[in-house]
Amino acid sequence: MSPHTPIVYIISAPSGSGKSTLVNVLLAITPCLDFSVSYTTRPLRGSEQNGKQYYFVSREEFEQMIAADEFLEHAFLYGKDYYGTARRFLREAGEKGHDLLLDIDVQGAAQIKQKLPDAVSIFVLPPDRKTLEWRLRKRGEDSNDVIDRRLEEARREIENYDKYDFILINDKLEESSDSLQAIVESERVRRSGQALSAEEKRIVDLADRHRLANARHRVLPILASFRTPQASARP
Ligand code: ADP
Ligand code: 5GP
Repeated sequence: MSPHTPIVYIISAPSGSGKSTLVNVLLAITPCLDFSVSYTTRPLRGSEQNGKQYYFVSREEFEQMIAADEFLEHAFLYGKDYYGTARRFLREAGEKGHDLLLDIDVQGAAQIKQKLPDAVSIFVLPPDRKTLEWRLRKRGEDSNDVIDRRLEEARREIENYDKYDFILINDKLEESSDSLQAIVESERVRRSGQALSAEEKRIVDLADRHRLANARHRVLPILASFRTPQASARP
């Protein structure tokens, strides 16, 4: 039997857009889709568990892994910490006949696209700046200073939206979740090369609405909301 070539899905988003929420739903309902648990040197936060959200390692361990060429990509983020995707997850997904989902930043996404041009990249966006600020406050994890920094970072990240294949504006959670599932399914169906059933055609059509070329006009007002100084949603 020929080995399975995993479809690699990359998902990126400004913090607070709802990416983790969407990824958790996607993983719960999608068969044969593995999550690539990244390595990081940042400290463990809140309820995180080693091996679940990340493998938490020392800087020395991370640098040894770089030297041993164990990473498919890695980035040094926020001038502070390393984050990296281990090659072994791709190999293991292939052996199991599974596909692989990477939750990585814009730099990591660009590195993966260079190495694996068939990877499918998805950028998740909030509907506008005010909504993002509100979600960050509602999540209750960050101080006002950190929230202000995240909003500034969000603007820079969103400027890169056109490097992605698909754009998902996370307004209504259920709709976004359906669309994300459609993007994943449509790639599987398309690559299988088989004739499409009516249901598969519906899924492909839904996914196509989120292709960069079809979604660009919806991103521009969001980007504008981040470029225009706005009144704070701070209570
Ligand atoms: P991220 O992983 O992108 O940083 P989270 O998944 O932690 O974001 O979501 C940030 C907050 O927004 C959480 O409180 C989450 O419950 C909420 N949220 C996510 N998606 C939506 C949505 N579509 N509508 C309203 N709230 C949402
Ligand atoms: P956090 O520290 O909030 O969990 O994540 C910060 C950022 O690091 C997020 O944008 C997340 O997508 C990104 N990230 C997580 N793992 C990796 C990785 O392995 N590689 C890269 N390049 N970015 C990652």
